[in-house]
Amino acid sequence: MKITAIHVWALALPLNKPYWLSGGRLKFSELDSTFVRIDAEDGDRRISGFGEACPWGNSYLPAHAAGVRAGVQTLASALLGMNALAPENINRRMDETLPGHPYAKAALDIACWDILGKFTNMPLWQCLGGASASAVALNSSISTNAPQTMIEDIQHASAAGYRIHSAKIGGSDAATDIARINAIEPVRQQLGEKVTYDINRAWTPSVAVEVLNSVAARGWIEQPCETLAQCAQVAARVPQPIMLDECLHTAADFYEAHRLNAGEGCKLKPNRVGGITKARFLRDYAISIGWCMHIEDVGGSAFADTVAIHLAASTPETQRLASWLCHAHLAVDPVFGQGARNRPDNLGYAIPPSTPGVGVVPDETQLGTPVASYRSASP
Ligand code: MG
Repeated sequence: MKITAIHVWALALPLNKPYWLSGGRLKFSELDSTFVRIDAEDGDRRISGFGEACPWGNSYLPAHAAGVRAGVQTLASALLGMNALAPENINRRMDETLPGHPYAKAALDIACWDILGKFTNMPLWQCLGGASASAVALNSSISTNAPQTMIEDIQHASAAGYRIHSAKIGGSDAATDIARINAIEPVRQQLGEKVTYDINRAWTPSVAVEVLNSVAARGWIEQPCETLAQCAQVAARVPQPIMLDECLHTAADFYEAHRLNAGEGCKLKPNRVGGITKARFLRDYAISIGWCMHIEDVGGSAFADTVAIHLAASTPETQRLASWLCHAHLAVDPVFGQGARNRPDNLGYAIPPSTPGVGVVPDETQLGTPVASYRSASP
């Protein structure tokens, strides 16, 4: 299936309410998503596959939406004419053409997997080694706020079926975070649910060690500090299990995290690591070292969420924690009703589609006019 064309759309995804991370130092009110469609053909057979890449704004990771589209522009001519059914080969070509910049490659990689699934008549969860379209537990995401507001948000999410919550805390004042955790923990225990405290890099190692040795909570603590080395320093001095997120971009980062004993689990996000091909490899590596994983994406519509749910559904339950759905935070729905969602008949869980490929087809009229189209010179 030779790649004959790559089409690119930009789509604004406003959040349904502003969202604060990292102790309130990072605020987000709208995401900028990029959709791609890769057209491939072999004789009379033509298949199109879609991908989505949506950084969480410009300040969360070294990734931004304009960079996705610039990266696709750089990569497109190198991919035209290649076999879309060989994603490992596609990834090697992308890495030769543009070293680094994993977030700029994710949508192209995902579109190739969508084509591979449609060609083989298999849903993505099956292409990734899954035995069934298993229901994946969901977790809420609770914006940094005053303790009482965070508790109300957790209670609201609990009523919507979520049993695991990712509460965003962090800042320079240890007392404020000790107060937040101590206020939330009794509510969590009363609900019989779980809370991961996600610091999003906001603590210095000294604040992390002070807070985590002052509270009774023994659940997961996520990305306490900026760097992997700082997180490892904290992991050695606190009683809670540490989950790594923003400091893991490459396979080398995963190996180094394991070597340093920097944690017991990770957030695995296809758009952060470069797409499904690399996320699948890192998922299998994480399984081999006994890590637990939250598998979800950095951001995006129900399309990006569904890709991540396919990967989660194909991961052993013993090492799979819950997944977050970004689309629940959006004021728009460009793939209306499609894909893995928190549905009333299965609250708190998302089930990946069992139609071939990703199983979500964006409505191109809703995506609007492509911002770029790249085509082979000859048919
Ligand atoms: Mg996180």
